[in-house]
Amino acid sequence: MINKNNINNHVLLSNRESRLSNLKKPIKRNVSKSDYYRIRNSANKKIYYLLKTKQIIKPSCDLCESIENIEAHHNNYSEPFNITWLCSKCHSNIHNKNVQ
Ligand SMILES: [Zn+2]
Ligand SMILES: [Zn+2]
Repeated sequence: MINKNNINNHVLLSNRESRLSNLKKPIKRNVSKSDYYRIRNSANKKIYYLLKTKQIIKPSCDLCESIENIEAHHNNYSEPFNITWLCSKCHSNIHNKNVQ
């Protein structure tokens, strides 16, 4: 009295459901993390290209007015030209504050 067709349908359906739920999980996290690094890299590249071609000149540090080891600090990596110029000391201070 076993109905073979019914059993096969049930197995196919549950396989499909588990495959779909497996697909959903990893996508969200991977995209947001790699997007962050991709945006950050391209923002840095744009700034260093402008520096290299002398379209912008490194000013002094916004916080202590030092002119040594000036680095571009991005306030927001999705806006590559929204930057603050900081010496390496002040720059690392700012990032340490953000972490804590
Ligand atoms: Zn400084
Ligand atoms: Zn920074």
